Amino acid sequence: MTQHADIAVLGGGMVGAALALGAARMGYEVVLIDAAPAPVHRPVARSVQEADPRVSALTRASDYLLRALEVWPAMQPHAVPYRHMHVWEGEAPDQGAIHFDAADVMQPDLGHILENSRVREALWSALSLCPNVDLRANCRVQAMTVADGGVTLTLDEQTLQAGFLVGADGARSWVRQTLNWPMDTRDYPHHALVANVRMEQAHRETAWQRFLPSGPLALLPLGQGDRANWVSIVWSAWPDTVERLMAQSDDTFLASLTEASQGVLGGALEAGPRQAFPLTWRHVRRYASGPVLLVGDAAHTIHPLAGQGVNLGFRDVIAALDVLANARALGLPLHEPRLWATYSRARRKDVTEVAAAMRFFSEVYGAQIPGLMPLRRLGVGLVHRFMPLKREVMCRALGVPESGAQSPAISNTACRSRWAAPSPL
Ligand SMILES: Cc1cc2nc3c(=O)[nH]c(=O)nc-3n(C[C@H](O)[C@H](O)[C@H](O)COP(=O)(O)OP(=O)(O)OC[C@H]3O[C@@H](n4cnc5c(N)ncnc54)[C@H](O)[C@@H]3O)c2cc1C
Repeated sequence: MTQHADIAVLGGGMVGAALALGAARMGYEVVLIDAAPAPVHRPVARSVQEADPRVSALTRASDYLLRALEVWPAMQPHAVPYRHMHVWEGEAPDQGAIHFDAADVMQPDLGHILENSRVREALWSALSLCPNVDLRANCRVQAMTVADGGVTLTLDEQTLQAGFLVGADGARSWVRQTLNWPMDTRDYPHHALVANVRMEQAHRETAWQRFLPSGPLALLPLGQGDRANWVSIVWSAWPDTVERLMAQSDDTFLASLTEASQGVLGGALEAGPRQAFPLTWRHVRRYASGPVLLVGDAAHTIHPLAGQGVNLGFRDVIAALDVLANARALGLPLHEPRLWATYSRARRKDVTEVAAAMRFFSEVYGAQIPGLMPLRRLGVGLVHRFMPLKREVMCRALGVPESGAQSPAISNTACRSRWAAPSPL
């Protein structure tokens, strides 16, 4: 039996699910395929042991996308806002430090921390209500044939013909590998350890980050109210350091974390399960060709030190939805190359700039060159005191224009009108 669709999305993680939902809302017939099971509703965690150890710091730009897709209300009860960011390198949290405040850029917050599973759950739940979406969880593609007019996918017991294929299947993308699309790649000097931890003191709505000689340690706000002392940690360090931290008993690990965070939130009291990941920079040399597009981690991965990975993926989605809206309004097939030329230029510039900044920070802060630390501190001090420069840094990280207003490209109403009206090719 052969099924037909306008768009097949392979990979229903946060990025693929958001793109599938946006496309469906425009009226495209969408099939979303994921090898993993569909997300299930999880009750609110009663301890850090129960919370999802994979979390993301979502910028305001990502918030706007999720609001425009009307899934934000389902996530909001679980979203923890952070209004400050405190980054330091010295012997104490107030030395060699830079502090960012949402009020400096006239924003209510700098973003939200959310468990990845909550984001995916809200998107899949909205997708399940769309009559023009076919959700295929626990499903693998056996083979793929790409022709000018579309893509044929061989599924377990069926053939699917789609006019367009979106590869959103993560860092080890099957689509990218099967098509043999060239990619630049380089290992970072760090692995990352993630865990949820109950601290002695409340996080004060602040994302804390200390640059240690072995790499950055972030403590991100995870809970509110009587859970305001829950944080999610992302501890990037040399591979042997991460291996040692993973092997430690809970008590030893909590003591290591208290020492590494210099007691900025008092002692670490309880930790949930730890997970470790190697960190690699990847960037495909082309995002789109014929009837295939790669988005999210399938197209690029970066160091998590500034929490920008899925935010970049959501910016792919915002730009791709623009193209889909244009194609629909102009009556063009999605494989029309002119549709993707502007997309590719804009996305490459954004991804390249963010990746370069991550490389700069991971290498400059990782280098143990005598005399470099005072220079780094001088630079940090300058940014801290020079407000226009500090605002510029913050607005870039937030994905908002410097005026403090919502970006015209991504605000809720602007998203809708952009996706409804064509713009010139
Ligand atoms: C330690 C760490 C911390 C991070 N913190 C942040 C942060 O604070 N903020 C931020 O913006 N980003 C962060 N990131 C990055 C972020 O997690 C990723 O960018 C994001 O999860 C990518 O989403 P995705 O949907 O593109 O890919 P994925 O989340 O990898 O989803 C891919 C989906 O495709 C499916 N799939 C895979 N292969 C197949 C196949 N062959 N067939 C069918 N389905 C398939 C998978 O089951 C999965 O559902 C962090 C990353 C790490 C490692």
